This record gives sequence, C-alpha cells and structure tokens, in this order.
Amino acid sequence: MDLLLRGGTLVTCDPTNRVFVGDLLVRDGRIASMGPDARHDARGVTRVLDARGCAVMPGLVQAHVHLCQVLFRGMADDLPLLDWLRRRIWPLEAAHDARSLRASADLGIAELLRGGTTTVLDMGTVHHHDAVFEALRDAGLRAVSGKTMMDAADPTIPDGLRERTDESLRASDALCHRWHRAADGRLRYAYSPRFILSCTTELLRGVALHARARGAMIHTHAAEHPDERAAVNLLHGADDVDVLASLGIAGPDVVLAHGVQLTPKQRRRMAADGTRVCHCPSANMKLGSGVAKLTKMRDAGMIVGLGADGAPCNNNLDGWVELRHAALLAKRLGDTTALPAREALRLATIDGARALGLDGEVGSLEVGKRADVIAVALDGLHAEPGGSPEAKLVYAAQSRDVRHVLVDGRTLVHDGGLTTLDARAVLATARSEAVKVAARAGVSVAP
Ligand SMILES: [Zn+2]
Repeated sequence: MDLLLRGGTLVTCDPTNRVFVGDLLVRDGRIASMGPDARHDARGVTRVLDARGCAVMPGLVQAHVHLCQVLFRGMADDLPLLDWLRRRIWPLEAAHDARSLRASADLGIAELLRGGTTTVLDMGTVHHHDAVFEALRDAGLRAVSGKTMMDAADPTIPDGLRERTDESLRASDALCHRWHRAADGRLRYAYSPRFILSCTTELLRGVALHARARGAMIHTHAAEHPDERAAVNLLHGADDVDVLASLGIAGPDVVLAHGVQLTPKQRRRMAADGTRVCHCPSANMKLGSGVAKLTKMRDAGMIVGLGADGAPCNNNLDGWVELRHAALLAKRLGDTTALPAREALRLATIDGARALGLDGEVGSLEVGKRADVIAVALDGLHAEPGGSPEAKLVYAAQSRDVRHVLVDGRTLVHDGGLTTLDARAVLATARSEAVKVAARAGVSVAP
C-alpha cells in the first residue's frame, strides 16, 4: 500500500540535516522516495496526506519512559526521589494487576502517539509485563521494553515487587523469548534492572550475561540524584556507573537513564565504551535531581537521547516539552550558541535512535528506512510568523501541532485523531482503573 505525504517541509535529520519542500512516498512500510518540488505522480498511490504548512520529519524517539506508571500521574507530586519511590511508586506498582497495567499502557501510548513520539525505550514494573507488550502490539508504537527487576534485601521494597534472583532472570528470559523482535521486529526486549539500590550484584551480573546471550538491550537508572549516589557509595564504596561497569553493564547495548551526577572521568569512559545515556530534563527538575551536563556529555563524544521518564515525575510524556527543556537548559549558563535548534532536534530523533541501536532503521528521513514519519503544523498562532523550521520545532512546537503520525508506514494518527485507540474509551478505563489501583495500594487520589 503506497502513501504520499504531499507538499510538506521535509526536515530530514539525515547526516547533512537537509531541509526542503517536497513529497515523501511510503511503500511497504518504508520510505521509497522523497524529493523537492512535489514531483511525485500520485497515480497508483492509495492514499495522499496533505502536509502543506507542516514539517515532515522523523517521529520523536524517547529513550526512557515508564508506561506502567502513567496511571499514577498526579499521585506522587512534590516529593523527593527516594520518598517518591518508596511511599508512592513502589506500593502503586505492587498493586497493579494485568487490567490496570493495560489501562496505564494504553493511556501512555495514546498520549505518546498523539504527540508525535513513534519509538520508546520503556521500563515496566515487576509483574504482568505481557499486558504492556500486548498494548504496544495492538496500538502500533515502536518500542524496546522490559519488565523491571529488583531482588535486593531492602525492607522498603514491598512484597509484591521483591523477587528472587533466579526468578527475576527466568521471568525476563521468558518475556524476551515471547516479545523480542515480535510484530515484524517493531517490538524488542530490554533487560531492565531498576537501579543499583534495588538489585544484588548477582542479579546485575546475570543481566549482562542473559541479555547478551539473546541480543537484547540493558536499560537501568543511574547517576540520578545526589542522595541516591551517597546511598550507593555507602553500600558499594563506589559510584553506581562504576559498579555497573565492573559487573558488565556498560557498552553500546546499555542505556542509563539520567546521568545527572556523572564526573568528567565517567563521561570519558562512557564515550569510549559506548554506554548510552538518556537525558530526562523535566523529571530531573521535578524530583530535584539537578541538571545533566548535556553539552559536556555530547562534547565528550557520548551518545545521548531524550526521554520524559514517568508520568508521576513529569507529569506528561510530551517529547516537545523535553526537547524545549533540553535546548533551553543547555544555554542556561550563558552560552546562547550551545545546542542550536538543528542539533537539539537530532537529540529527539536520530540520536535517540542511535541510543537504542535502531539508527539503521529509524530516526531520520532517508530512502530505505522504515517510515516512522510525522507531520507537524508550523503555522499555529504560537509558531508564526518567523523562524527556521528547526527553530519552530524546538522552541515553539507543541503536541497539538502534530497532524499525522506513521509507524512502519501505517497511519496511527490522522488529522490529529488516533486510529488504533479510542481516546475517550482509553481515558474512561484509565480513570476507573486508577481509582482501583490506588485503593489497593492505600494511596489517596486527589479528587
Ligand atoms: Zn525512570
């Protein structure tokens, strides 16, 4: 089935950052051709989408989200990180059943797609993770995802979440077997130990072995908050990223969320071994973790993506907000030339794809790549009259500007409406499941 996106401004994020007005033709789920001046003949094309007044660009890639936590939006505001986890997020995650987890994933996927995010790296909760993969399979979002793993003898971990080491590895292996490269390769698996304080060294060593034996990724949190770094040092006598590296969790198949506390030496080491970091500016600000040194990470040669993290620490999963925050925070120390719009846009597209090892398939508009393509209106009241397309996208664009979203060439958002999810039904189910899961967890929900 052919599809033509007609007359947009193509912002390619390719190696030379080409921008031109023209058409983009999708065939068999891939970008078949694109060119300036609307030269494409629409005869024989099944569908034509009008992209005039829009930027046509690669879909946003978010390299760290938690679909399992979307239902907890607004239930854990204004708390410090470790309290946020222990008093709210862990009890709430422990109270999830497959139904509430599916409702959470559906709401998150609906929000992400509607806002132009086409690929995520997702960390789940401990149990029922098939529900997240089923939601991803049905809605059409591209994802690398995995159940979280936590086996530490920490008394603050609720019974519903603490696992035995062998159990945790076995459950991850089974999910990896079912879902890695499923849905025509659109879904992949990531072994996801939550963070060093919730995992034994035996589990972390096992993760490195099991993930590599199966060609899966590894996804965890590290170097997030000063208090967490102090607690890790008390326990291990070293920083988390150094302990993780000593256990085999470093390299191009590893994504560490945050990296706020990285030292210059750690940045150099991670640039050399290829360990990826996901910058989560909104979550880092809301949880008082600080501001990651994005330009220093990039200057050192590290591969860095962007992510919204969880709904309870953000409070939305809007890729445009993360992009704007990343771009503005990079300039906060006085250098207004730091991270120009064109470079910032790469963070949210091709660099995110590189972080996930998917840059051969998605992240830029190039002939032969999978057609994960979005059309974003550039002519709103808040974006006109001036500015380059890249500047409009980084500094002014909003989720509601996203008009069309394709993943693998399939139209998942058409004229602002979701095609694979019923937004009203998703919201109604999410509201009722949120009340039930909060009651099971003993957490009060604001009216
Ligand atoms: Zn996170």
